[in-house]
Amino acid sequence: MSENINYRGFDFHCHIDLHPDPPYLITRCEKKRIAVLAVTTTPKAWTQNKLWMQHSDYVHAAVGLHPELVGERYGEAGLLEELIGECRLVGEVGLDGSPQYRSSYDKQKDVFSRVLRTSQIHGGRVLTIHSRRAARDVCDLVEKHSNPDNVLCILHWFSGSLSESRRAVKAGCYFSVNAAMLKNDRGRALIRDIPSDRLLTETDAPFMSIDGRKSSPLDSMRIFGDLAGLLGEEDRVTRQRVTVNARHVFRFAGID
Ligand code: MN
Repeated sequence: MSENINYRGFDFHCHIDLHPDPPYLITRCEKKRIAVLAVTTTPKAWTQNKLWMQHSDYVHAAVGLHPELVGERYGEAGLLEELIGECRLVGEVGLDGSPQYRSSYDKQKDVFSRVLRTSQIHGGRVLTIHSRRAARDVCDLVEKHSNPDNVLCILHWFSGSLSESRRAVKAGCYFSVNAAMLKNDRGRALIRDIPSDRLLTETDAPFMSIDGRKSSPLDSMRIFGDLAGLLGEEDRVTRQRVTVNARHVFRFAGID
């Protein structure tokens, strides 16, 4: 995060490695001056992602194990803990309490607890966290195993209640918000309630759809207008807020 670069967008949660041509997309993000936290869904994917992104000033790879995959890849949790020792960005991690992942829920809690404890021990770790239908348990585990001096938690595409988001704010969490959240009243109420110094942006590309197509990290440039409208301020003010927050988060992870 160079102080000299005038960033045009920030994508704190997207899946670059699910794009058909990751090196091309990385180049596009660099040309457009988009800072990206690129999540991975299995620890085994990290080495390739690191190779693609290690020389980029804009796109940064995170090591993760997606909660939806914990059922089949529980055995990789040890590798994940090991890699957290060498990578300060961690994600996608968290819990998914949806009915189809219920059977792996205890394992998910175990893996997420281990991720938090390992991150807490190393310190200076930034986590991007999935919490669908599991916001309360995510807050419980974050509070139990980490503190915000050592672990900076970003709740990605948060869909819990207002009281849960307030609890997460108290625990020191940040929130990465996206265009889909801005489209419904519930998401808008949540975003309006988040303290402005905890606000970040994301696309969850390619999983979110925009104008009937798959999203891309380049779409993160477009969110500022709608976000500013919701917050009742000028676009440039919102952009400036997110820029300040983004610099803080990257600095926390040792990325200048
Ligand atoms: Mn995701």
